[in-house]
Amino acid sequence: MRKCSVIGTGYVGLVTGACLAELGHQVICVDKDEEKIEMLRNACIPIYEAELESLVRNHLESGKLDFSVDIVEAVRASEFVFITVDTPSDEEGGADVGNVEEVARQIAISLNDYKVIVNKSTVPVGTTKRVERIIEEEMNEYHEFDVVSNPEFLREGTAVFDFLKPARIVIGSDSQKAIMLMTELYRGIDAPLLVTDPVSAEMIKYASNAFLATKVSYINAISNICEAVGADVREVALGMGYDSRIGFEFLKPGPGFGGSCFPKDCRALLRIAKDSGYDFKLLEGVLEVNREQQEKMVEKIERVAGTLKGKKVGVLGLAFKANTDDIRESPAIRIVSMLAERGALVSVYDPRAMENAKHELGDMVMFASDSYDVAKDADVLVLLTEWDEFKWLDFLKVKELMSNPIVVDTRNCLDPVVLRKIGFVYEGVGR
Ligand code: NAD
Repeated sequence: MRKCSVIGTGYVGLVTGACLAELGHQVICVDKDEEKIEMLRNACIPIYEAELESLVRNHLESGKLDFSVDIVEAVRASEFVFITVDTPSDEEGGADVGNVEEVARQIAISLNDYKVIVNKSTVPVGTTKRVERIIEEEMNEYHEFDVVSNPEFLREGTAVFDFLKPARIVIGSDSQKAIMLMTELYRGIDAPLLVTDPVSAEMIKYASNAFLATKVSYINAISNICEAVGADVREVALGMGYDSRIGFEFLKPGPGFGGSCFPKDCRALLRIAKDSGYDFKLLEGVLEVNREQQEKMVEKIERVAGTLKGKKVGVLGLAFKANTDDIRESPAIRIVSMLAERGALVSVYDPRAMENAKHELGDMVMFASDSYDVAKDADVLVLLTEWDEFKWLDFLKVKELMSNPIVVDTRNCLDPVVLRKIGFVYEGVGR
């Protein structure tokens, strides 16, 4: 059992804290947001993430997990200090590491003996060294410490599983002592361990996310060609995926990638490339294809509806993907905004993301109580997030509720044969 603190209790921090407790460690999760900490102390989880609530509840009860706003006390009581704060895009697309630097300063004044400072936030190359320098400069009295880059690869929706059963663990450090302690900390996890230098570890995170984003934009570009030439992108993706060099994953066309990571991390990598003197045209194209894909979805909806002005559009799904309530840079939110700007009367429903969407969309749209409420009097029904519950709707009932039986399925997750048989006009993507 090791003593850990986790600074920043968002998607990554809360999952990290709960999973470290699950591995048997003693954990204090810290956040500057007092309201959030108060909720968590009462086992109230501010985000929707499968398995997380039960894990937090269990370890609050077992005494292995605690929540606090007192970073100094938490750091002083810990052998490992995880940094899991947000690193949003700055005005030039780079990652704003202000929160990481702020936490580094607070760690510096709290040091009381040797600690391993573990950075899990996604940060530009050189940040591990920068954190090291800040702590060196600002600590009150000298104490030995190491800073390790340990990028996080969890996916929202399956975050607990991904943390406990990751494809790999990356540890970037020049300190044998820190590497040994980190290896021991993660002993309960069965995964390949890649030990490297901090700069390479920082690059691994950006290179991985940008590559996955590239796959998404690539298949979206292919889907646009498939539509034009009469091919079915699902068959094409299947045929490609059998080649083990390509694989089946991330070859699903749709409204483009979103979320708190891919768009932000692509922009940050572009910035890193620019600063290093490399013109990363390929990645610029990936972002451009992604933007265009959302515009293409709006054009598709407009085409089937005739015009958008005054038309009632029912929207199923707002989260950037299924099984999360996260709407940060969600393609669905951008598409809904574009539909409303073009004069459509939009009604929306998402199983988990309604509260977050209300802050974002305000009175631009109507918020329905469920999927059938969305369908009521709609001229077009648009599926934007691939939640399972949308696949199992009673489409006979949906058709009766709608003014016009038209469905635009931007995730290709409904069955066109069944829908057409019922009498729907069905539009998918790339087929
Ligand atoms: P988040 O916005 O959900 O949570 C960040 C938390 O940090 C917030 O609760 C905020 O109040 C807190 N915070 C900020 N500054 C603080 C400070 N000075 N002291 C204490 N708390 C502070 O962010 P997230 O989605 O968990 O992402 C965190 C980092 O992990 C980012 O760099 C992100 O790119 C990376 N990451 C995210 C994911 C993901 O799927 N969300 C996956 C892998 C990596």
